[in-house]
Amino acid sequence: MKTPMLFDDLGLSPQTLKAIHECGYTQPTPIQEKAIPAILMTRDVVGLAQTGTGKTASFTLPMIEILHDGRAKARMPRSLVLAPTRELAAQVAENFDTYGKYHKLTKALLVGGESMGEQMKLLDRGVDVLIATPGRLLDLFERGALLLGDIKILVIDEADRMLDMGFIPDIEKIVSLVPAIRQTLLFSATMPPEIKKLADRFLSNPKSVSVAPPASPAETVEQFLVSVPPRRKNETLNSLIEREDVKNAFIFCNRKRDVDMLATWLKKQGHAAAGLHGDMAQPVRTKTLQDFKDGGVVLLVCSDVAARGLDVSAVSHVFNYDVPTHADDYVHRIGRTGRAGMKGRAWTLFTDDDRKYVDLIEKLIKKTIPVETVSDARERRPQDSRPRPERQERQAPRRTTPRERETSDEEVLGFGDDVPAFLRR
Ligand code: AMP
Repeated sequence: MKTPMLFDDLGLSPQTLKAIHECGYTQPTPIQEKAIPAILMTRDVVGLAQTGTGKTASFTLPMIEILHDGRAKARMPRSLVLAPTRELAAQVAENFDTYGKYHKLTKALLVGGESMGEQMKLLDRGVDVLIATPGRLLDLFERGALLLGDIKILVIDEADRMLDMGFIPDIEKIVSLVPAIRQTLLFSATMPPEIKKLADRFLSNPKSVSVAPPASPAETVEQFLVSVPPRRKNETLNSLIEREDVKNAFIFCNRKRDVDMLATWLKKQGHAAAGLHGDMAQPVRTKTLQDFKDGGVVLLVCSDVAARGLDVSAVSHVFNYDVPTHADDYVHRIGRTGRAGMKGRAWTLFTDDDRKYVDLIEKLIKKTIPVETVSDARERRPQDSRPRPERQERQAPRRTTPRERETSDEEVLGFGDDVPAFLRR
């Protein structure tokens, strides 16, 4: 039997080992075992790993070692980590703080929604690690706030999400601005052909490390489907939440507008709920996320983009209020629970119209998800005499077209008659 690898075996410095020890980690995760030694040897690495596998530490730990002796010049960062969302970038920055606490590395986080002036001041002082979303980085570059000629390590994190979000042209531009001689690390949860091509172009003789087959959902997540008429989604979700032992949960909607409305409705039902989506001001997003981590918010209603890569380790449940139209998103969503070896439960509400998307998901995960019956609150409480609108009299809902459904994190203009149930209360 293979003896378990220890952090001591990976070639990390005593200061880093001390910081890791203080996090309570006993053993490197498989991606860390494979990636850290290769990165320390200055190899390019392509890492195929989902969030929740410890992949962030697999590049931050060796980067701290490589960068610790050296000094950054004003406006010339020495390394660059590109992340698709502000939250993910903030998480990477937190990782550098946590693991680099016994090193004197300087860092800056460049994300939209925060003051540019502050970010420019930090750059002026010189930073060892620059963590950025592609748009804000190019913005500041074009204003002359930074030069990329001293970048020694470039990390492209969550490359498949960058692709989904249309960031590939920005990435190409950024790569053209950094030195040709550099170390490049690319991480992705899946490897679509576009990302494979990008890796072939930008990385030189990379070591490929992979910890789970692409798009395999965590084995620790129990998955269920619930068939629901379109107009009973809210009530069914509420019944599910009441019947499950929910410690805390992510609830995913396909549209930003539903995020707000569902969060408001759940609050009215007495739940500690909040919404999180890309249109919210950054300070509000940061505070909401912190409230969720602290337990003040128990149900976080969110869009795919806002939740991507969020690191909240002990989430008991994921509810899909809508079936995602991209099967990959399903895998990312349910990967929010069942992390770090804990058990999680993922429930997906589906209507007759969603069957085709469910089929795509089942094809991708190579498994049939059991369908459970959940009677909603109204059916279970006939004595409940609160007046309710007469739904049958309303017109049949306008069906959303596949095109509309695919605008997963975009506003869909006009609901027509397809008004979500909570609007009609
Ligand atoms: P990531 O895949 O980077 O999103 O990391 C997921 C979670 O795993 C984070 O909460 C990390 O703090 C945690 N983590 C990273 N490395 C380890 C480790 N070796 N042992 C236990 N937890 C870890």
